[in-house]
Amino acid sequence: MSETRDTVILGSGCAGLTAAIYTGRAGLNPLVLEGHEPGGQLSITTLVENFPGWPEGIQGPELIDNMKKQAAKFGATFQLAHLNSVDLSKHPYTLQTSAGEICTRTLIVASGASARWLGLPSEQALIGHGVSSCATCDGFFFRGREIAVVGGGDSAMEEALFLTRFASKVTLLHRRDAFRASKIMLERAIAHPNIELRTNTVVEEVLGVAEQEVRGLRLRDVTNGNVTTLPVSGLFLGIGHEPNAKMFHGQMDLDADGYIRTKDNVLTTHNGVVVPGVYACGDVQDRRYRQAITAAGSGCMAALEAEKFLEEHGH
Ligand code: NAP
Repeated sequence: MSETRDTVILGSGCAGLTAAIYTGRAGLNPLVLEGHEPGGQLSITTLVENFPGWPEGIQGPELIDNMKKQAAKFGATFQLAHLNSVDLSKHPYTLQTSAGEICTRTLIVASGASARWLGLPSEQALIGHGVSSCATCDGFFFRGREIAVVGGGDSAMEEALFLTRFASKVTLLHRRDAFRASKIMLERAIAHPNIELRTNTVVEEVLGVAEQEVRGLRLRDVTNGNVTTLPVSGLFLGIGHEPNAKMFHGQMDLDADGYIRTKDNVLTTHNGVVVPGVYACGDVQDRRYRQAITAAGSGCMAALEAEKFLEEHGH
């Protein structure tokens, strides 16, 4: 077994990289396990207009790249690996990762949240063949085509607006008639000539499984049960995210939707008792704000707590 590390950080999004900058500057030589989606959600977004310090906005991937460089400058190292399992009852903690066993005194969980899917078999069969949850990654392939976006929150509005750069028409489908999206985003979508909003509408099936490409959607109007077909070449999901905390089930307190419950912002607990040296930050523990800046803030808090824990335990 290799030496015991001071700090391992799970996840390389905004929260994890901020924790890496702080623990790096504290001389803890943090190891960042980059996870399934290196860079997290910012790495698949476009212009970030609300991160303080960038009056003209900054592209999400560039912001993440800057944070990574900043963390590396202070001694953080990065590994393209993810956590398979860990036993949180024995300190220091031994992590079983896709890159082997790693032992650490503190663990900062910044594993974020991943895109949610509708769960239809036809949708799953056509992922990568016209079904996508990432407009910035896949929008380019739909130049001049008609597509649909599902969702009623800011993500759906942002995707729909972004996709108008490529698609000839975007139909935004929402299951209710009230929107969660912020007023400004909703108004931009409503005002756009190439976006049509259809409310009270659910997707029943994605058509084109046999052809291995999206040919259309079977839709149902929930107010009257009417079923219609919408011919589109692409379907984008903008229906929110699920926390990546399943590996801690039974070892950490999670809420009903699987988010890590935290005490004093970032301390993790098991049956209400603090798990020593294990902190959670960013979207994996934040179902309320879910912003880049709040993720960064909680990453900083987790790092400061880890540093304090190590100091108190003589390291
Ligand atoms: P969200 O606000 O939770 O919205 C998810 C939307 O998807 C809701 O309208 C929901 O419908 C719908 N939905 C969920 N499950 C569904 C299903 N199985 N079938 C059909 N529809 C479903 O998530 P989000 O839009 O990803 O936003 C998350 C947070 O990030 C928010 O705080 C948001 O402000 C922020 N954000 C900000 C920006 C920006 O400012 N540029 C961009 C993206 C995200 P119901 O309404 O019926 O539940």
